Amino acid sequence: MIIDPETCMGCQACQIYCPMGAIAYLPDSGICRVNLDECVECGICLRPDPCPTDALQQQELDEIRELRRAFSNPLVPHKSTSVPGRGTEEIKTNEVTGRFKRGHAGVAVELGRPGTGTRFKDVETVAMAIAKCGVSFEPHNPVTALMTDVKTGKMRDDVLNEKVLSAIVEMVVTADNLAGVLKAIKNVAGQLDTVFSLDLACRVNPDNSAPVEEIARSVGFMPSINGKTNVGLGRPLAKED
Ligand code: SF4
Ligand code: SF4
Repeated sequence: MIIDPETCMGCQACQIYCPMGAIAYLPDSGICRVNLDECVECGICLRPDPCPTDALQQQELDEIRELRRAFSNPLVPHKSTSVPGRGTEEIKTNEVTGRFKRGHAGVAVELGRPGTGTRFKDVETVAMAIAKCGVSFEPHNPVTALMTDVKTGKMRDDVLNEKVLSAIVEMVVTADNLAGVLKAIKNVAGQLDTVFSLDLACRVNPDNSAPVEEIARSVGFMPSINGKTNVGLGRPLAKED
């Protein structure tokens, strides 16, 4: 997003809409300017049409800026998956498809939030730490599509400094491997310049207990157990096995 300095009158009406604090008022010139390093191209500032002079404008985006937009604007589908938002249907939706068999768990690390965002170098740090545990990253996920080596979690060098609102590292692991993966995530957390939330999904036991809970607690996480019912949205393909 850019602001035309010739037509901006510095009213700051656009500023409050930016979740990244990327629009700054410049008192010396009496206008506002977008910090393009912080702007994630989410388009939120433009949607309410706050600018009385049309100085706030969506500039033409090159491939790299389009990448920021796809990860940050929920109205824009990703090229690699055709899914909008974070570009993945996520384990929160996909568990109804039977993707997670007994003895397996879905793991997703959701990096970034409005206000903080995340750079892909932090996403890569998490992916590379997890990859050492021998996991297979979810193929239908735009973060995986940016990896140059899915075995190591290495991502494209030219995207590492790019900032987006949020991105998800996602995989299915065996129950035997879950503790190691969670330890790797815990060990790397202090190196990140952003926040993340950790999602775990699994088939529940006949007594409704969640097999992943004890494993998560054993490595120091305190999971909050939630169920999710996708009324009308789910594909009821899961069969007892
Ligand atoms: S596109 Fe998003 S991040 Fe960029 S200035 Fe507008 S609201 Fe802020
Ligand atoms: S709303 Fe328009 S005129 Fe007002 S500060 Fe933003 S870009 Fe400038």
